[in-house]
Amino acid sequence: MEKKLNGIVLKSVSYGENDAILNIFTLEEGIISAKIKGVKKASAKLKFATQPFCFAEFIIAEKGDKKSVINASLHDGFYSLRENVFSFYAGSTILEFALKFLSQSVENEEMFLLVSKSLNELTYGSENTEKTLIKFLLKALSLSGYGLYFDRCVKCGCEIEGRVFFSVQTGAFACEECLEEGFEIYFDTYIALKELNEDSKKDFAKETLINSLKLISYYLRQRAEVEVKSLKEFIELEFFNKN
Ligand SMILES: [Zn+2]
Repeated sequence: MEKKLNGIVLKSVSYGENDAILNIFTLEEGIISAKIKGVKKASAKLKFATQPFCFAEFIIAEKGDKKSVINASLHDGFYSLRENVFSFYAGSTILEFALKFLSQSVENEEMFLLVSKSLNELTYGSENTEKTLIKFLLKALSLSGYGLYFDRCVKCGCEIEGRVFFSVQTGAFACEECLEEGFEIYFDTYIALKELNEDSKKDFAKETLINSLKLISYYLRQRAEVEVKSLKEFIELEFFNKN
């Protein structure tokens, strides 16, 4: 049986001398694994389809539970994303998040649209890379059941002012009077996250954006017990760039 699936390559691993195994996030069926044959030779027609970020219509043949790619036509390779090390690691964070948080063969249209929209913004958009990445992560966390709650103090419901405390167990923020298991974070970080969660176009200091990413990275490790390596590398790059 053959079918057409629209998908983005998340990961490609060499298999044997000439083949590769792809993890593709498809719009129609969620994440699938499929073998692609004879793609190592320089002249291979489908070589482009083994590149992470490749967004294509794949023709998939199915035999039992084994899938293989027999043809592909490119929608977008997001090639220029690789020309800048920051957008490359931001894009890699998006792919890695999808790979680690989504289940195999479970369709997730909202997440698919978020991934493709964010890759598109990183490649062709004018928004700053850190902001695009933070917006992606906040929305993706919410879609994965780990959403952060910014609106008001989680305990007393007051508007948080002055000092703010974050509880990693609940993903919520508390005011000074209500802090219990939380730890204090910079107020600027809280405001930036809160506004970016509402898709704000405002500008924030670079350091505030990096602190926001660090907080999200910490939250991912502690609450979801997932290490997104590309995000860690993105933050390290920012650090070395600054110093
Ligand atoms: Zn409170």
